Amino acid sequence: MARPAHALIDLDAIRHNYAQAKALSPNSKAIAIIKANAYGHGAVMVGKALSAQADAFGVACLEEALELRESGIENPILLLEGIFEPEELQDVDQHRLMIAVATYRQLQWLLEAKLEHPVDVFLKMDSGMHRLGFAPEETEAVYQQLAQCKQINSVVLMTHFARADEADTSFTEQQVSCFDSAVAHIPAPCALSNSAGILSDAKANQAYIRPGIMLYGATPMGTDHASDALLKPAMSLRSAIFSIRDLPVGERIGYGGRFVCDRPTRVGVVAMGYADGYPRHAVDGTPVWVNGHMSRIIGKVSMDMLTVDLTDLPHIKEGDPVELWGEHVSANLVADHSATIAYTLFTGVTRRVPLRYVNE
Ligand SMILES: *Cc1c(COP(=O)(O)O)cnc(C)c1O
Repeated sequence: MARPAHALIDLDAIRHNYAQAKALSPNSKAIAIIKANAYGHGAVMVGKALSAQADAFGVACLEEALELRESGIENPILLLEGIFEPEELQDVDQHRLMIAVATYRQLQWLLEAKLEHPVDVFLKMDSGMHRLGFAPEETEAVYQQLAQCKQINSVVLMTHFARADEADTSFTEQQVSCFDSAVAHIPAPCALSNSAGILSDAKANQAYIRPGIMLYGATPMGTDHASDALLKPAMSLRSAIFSIRDLPVGERIGYGGRFVCDRPTRVGVVAMGYADGYPRHAVDGTPVWVNGHMSRIIGKVSMDMLTVDLTDLPHIKEGDPVELWGEHVSANLVADHSATIAYTLFTGVTRRVPLRYVNE
């Protein structure tokens, strides 16, 4: 018997969520964002599962794109951060990758390169996030340089939203109008929305959308948002109860004795800890599903295990299955109890946790 901690990945759920993104923006192509090992879900498996459907894939960097190409994935792939040194352009050329251009250094490398195949470029403009991209007043001149360069096949204009997950859409609308007016005279298609932009009430006209977190079934709009119902959770983080004990009133559980038993307490120990990627900051009361019933964390999460309250679940026995997040407990809810977001939970699952795929 192996340690029971594992993550079940439902590839049908990811295909469903991709189709939902397309349905919300029916006139756009959708670049499925599978950077960071597909947010912890396994980039090659997710890439293969979506290869018949996906208009393109988006990854952070060359290394992530090469992993997909080596596994036989032939869809267009966009490097969202572009290149970090000019030598990477040889692989970009050879593997026919699309690249973001967001800095003058990247622009210069590209204009000076000798490429065999003209490259497709996503020109990034800073419309208010103030992290990457050309200023609105610089964008048209950069576009002209790219448009005149024989090594460039096509240019898409791109920007990124900083606050599209908020109920108040005013900042996103401000970004859209900043972008629209800066590119008004540029004859090129546009790419604006991340998942939050796709799910938000703020609408943008665009040839390409860039869904990420929503593919994995977690809405970035918060636990109560209607978009939760559109999406199917793709990852179910699972383990099992491997020890049970009874403690009298007043005893404390785990490191630091954070939880104090206020009644005779039946404690279940689960084989799942922060070294598996479960958040150490989960507070007492964080929901956990135990074989058909809701339970809660009691005591601090340890490296290899955590403790749950089984006092009201007397029939639960050693070996019973546990879900930490997934179908029964949303990752957003666990994130809310751990001062984080579903993105860090998914990307934080460690290599000690085997990924098992269903509905390949
Ligand atoms: C990661 C990323 C996305 C996807 O964002 P989500 O919030 O996960 O949908 C979209 N665009 C860019 C440029 C990104 O880096």
